[in-house]
Amino acid sequence: MASASFPAEWRDILLQRVPFYEQLQPDARARFETKLVSFIAEQHFQSASLEITTEMKVVVAAAACRLTMNLDWHSYRRLATISLRAEAWKKGDRLVAGLADGIGVALCWPELLAEFALPRRGHNVGYHEFAHALDGADGVFDGLAEGPPDAELYAHWSSIVAQARRRVVDAVAARRAPPIREYAGTNDSELFAVATEYFFERSNTLQRQLPELYDLLKKFYRQDPAVETPSDVVIKIERPTGLRRLAFDWDFDDEGVDG
Ligand SMILES: [Zn+2]
Repeated sequence: MASASFPAEWRDILLQRVPFYEQLQPDARARFETKLVSFIAEQHFQSASLEITTEMKVVVAAAACRLTMNLDWHSYRRLATISLRAEAWKKGDRLVAGLADGIGVALCWPELLAEFALPRRGHNVGYHEFAHALDGADGVFDGLAEGPPDAELYAHWSSIVAQARRRVVDAVAARRAPPIREYAGTNDSELFAVATEYFFERSNTLQRQLPELYDLLKKFYRQDPAVETPSDVVIKIERPTGLRRLAFDWDFDDEGVDG
């Protein structure tokens, strides 16, 4: 049952901007809304170039809380600041739309909005950076996210992540299509962040390509998006007008919908 106290304005924003929201079952939606309310109350949003709006807070929180909606520990406890930017920016020689360090997440707002409007492509800079925040909650970005004491979950975590990364790296070296985006081969932390994007947006692809990794994320996030938000559901959301996709150095895999 959706919470009666959840602001109607926030619900309208979610329905307009965040396609998965409409797909959530009532009990899941209630958990998600509860997380979203506390996330917005706890986090500090800032921007040098944009005036922070309710829509921004709700959409950013939706990305963060999709990951943690079924987790009952405080997963973003180290996070102090969320910074929004009007454009992608240079980091070294790369153009980036998001960054996460130990205490903050920075996101390019138009990119986040555009990627929510184009689900099923396996790209969501919000999921990516908040996955890094979960990974780095213990102070180390190593692709191993802090969670509850669960020996079974953690027994094979690092080897599953390392194996998946090896599959990506080997495929790229052999000029074959990697099982998930090439950038996942960068290090274990990027593997976890990219795999999280796939987990929620191309769950069937991840489950088919890297079943052990899918299973690990399913246990960690306590969600099964391949079943709960199947990708054959037609997404009705319209792409926001005036937004163009930014050109990144990461590759695009246009395999179409998950099969
Ligand atoms: Zn990353």
